[in-house]
Amino acid sequence: MRRDCKRKIVTAKNIGFCSGVDRAINLAEEYAKKFNRVLTLDALLHNEEELKRLEREGVFPVNKVDLLSGDVILLPAHGATKEENDKAKKRFKKVIDTTCPLVLRTVKIIEQLKKEGYKIVIVGDKGHRETKVLSNTAGDSLIGVFKKAEEINGDSFVKVGIVAQSTVFLEDLFEVAKKFIELSKEVRFFNTVCEETLRRQSEAVEIAKNVECMIVIGGKSSANSNRLYELVRRVNKNSFFIQNESNLNTEELKRYCSIGIASGTSTPSWLIKNVIERLQKV
Ligand code: SF4
Repeated sequence: MRRDCKRKIVTAKNIGFCSGVDRAINLAEEYAKKFNRVLTLDALLHNEEELKRLEREGVFPVNKVDLLSGDVILLPAHGATKEENDKAKKRFKKVIDTTCPLVLRTVKIIEQLKKEGYKIVIVGDKGHRETKVLSNTAGDSLIGVFKKAEEINGDSFVKVGIVAQSTVFLEDLFEVAKKFIELSKEVRFFNTVCEETLRRQSEAVEIAKNVECMIVIGGKSSANSNRLYELVRRVNKNSFFIQNESNLNTEELKRYCSIGIASGTSTPSWLIKNVIERLQKV
């Protein structure tokens, strides 16, 4: 039922693309303009709506590089394994690596830890591309990828180095680290969670506490958008996760006089604008 009030929309300041995704999109657009059509290894980013827009600009994702060849291929913002990189170089005239510098930093940390004889623990989602790249870098030195401390069995270790996928919850990272401190003689810990993600999370939670309803806009496959939604839902039960403006339940939203908006790091600003415009008409 509609409430009689002047509806307030509170939009997070930390919203839209993060610097890593922004860089990847700019490179994709630049090369698509030059070559008419470019391929990207996997999805360049995790937002279905933006991927559709990029296809219209001539940017197409492929799952494997072994079967294709051509002028240009872009490696995604979440990184590529050494094997993928080598294959791409063999089959394409130009390989553009859009891997986020923060992911590359974690790769370098792992390489250094390996040189110093540490076994590697990665905190993150097993199936995620970034985690796949980090695991591949760790190679035989990998102890495992853990999302939660409960997944760790009781083996003991001598030298352990801990890093994280850029978008995990800090509390999960700290719990896993605590467990390995108990199990190991020596632990080196690197907080590789991305600052941009953390800023979004804390701002979204603050907004969610102070509005009647909270909306998170993000791709279904976006790990950081899903985590953002999970966080805001803890403090505001009237929270919704949407992919675009057509997912808005306008009848339900008429009940709320204040609505907060946050987005994942791969949600484009044009999509956020569409959602806000639709909300203003509710
Ligand atoms: S979320 Fe952080 S680590 Fe991931 S692409 Fe964006 S800036 Fe890079």
